[in-house]
Amino acid sequence: MQLIRQLRNANLLLEEKVKERTKKLNEQNKLLEEISNTDSLTSVANRRFLDLFLSIECKRLSRNTSSLSLIMCDIDHFKIFNDIYGHQAGDECLKKVAVALLSLARRGTDCVARYGGEEFIIVLPDTKIELAVHVAETARKAVENLCIPHEKPAKDKIVTMSFGVASISSEDRNYIDPSILISKADDALYMAKEAGRNRVIESKII
Ligand code: GH3
Ligand code: MG
Ligand code: MG
Repeated sequence: MQLIRQLRNANLLLEEKVKERTKKLNEQNKLLEEISNTDSLTSVANRRFLDLFLSIECKRLSRNTSSLSLIMCDIDHFKIFNDIYGHQAGDECLKKVAVALLSLARRGTDCVARYGGEEFIIVLPDTKIELAVHVAETARKAVENLCIPHEKPAKDKIVTMSFGVASISSEDRNYIDPSILISKADDALYMAKEAGRNRVIESKII
C-alpha cells in the first residue's frame, strides 16, 4: 500500500515537472517566433513576416468582397542625413519614424513592416483607397511632428517622408497578387519623390 502511494507521488511530481518544462519550451518558442518576425532595429515586422502577411491577406481578399490597401513610405534625403549626423543618429531616426508609423496603424489587423533600409510598408486589410490615403497623410504629418532636424530639406529643415498608396478590390480578380500591390505603391512613391517629396500620392492604375 505504501509502495503504491510512493509511486503515485513520484508520478505526480514527474507530471508537474513535465508541465513546467512544456510551459518553458512554449514560452521560448513564442519568443523565437517573435524574433524571427521582427526587425531587430525598429521592432516593427520584418520582410519575412510582411511577405507572409500579404500572401494571406491576398488569399482572404479573393474569397471576400473587400479592398486591401498598401502604403509604401520612404524617408526623404536619408543618405544625406546619415552623412551629416552619422549612422547612429540615422538609426535613432529610423526607430522614431517606426514608432510614429506604428501609432497610426492601430487596428489589430493592420501590419507595419520595415521593407528595407529606410522604407516601410503599412498593410491595411478591409480598407478602401480613400481611407488608406487619409492614414498616409496622417502618417506624413506624424513624421513632420517628430521635428527631427535635417539640414537638407529646403523648407522646414526637418526629416520628412514620402508616401505611395495602392489598393486592390476583390472585384479586380486578375490583380490580386502581393507583387502587383507592392509595385503599384512603389510607382506612386516614385511619383511622390519626383513631385518634390514630403507628400502622399495614390496609384491610379487599374
Ligand atoms: P530619397 O529622398 O530619394 O529617398 O533619397 P535618400 O537619400 O533617402 O535615398 P537613398 O536610397 O539614396 O539612400 C538611402 C540611405 O538610407 C542610404 C543608407 O545609408 C541609409 N540607410 C539604409 N538603411 C539604414 C539603416 O539601417 N541605418 C541607417 N543609419 N541608415 C540606413
Ligand atoms: Mg529615402
Ligand atoms: Mg529608399
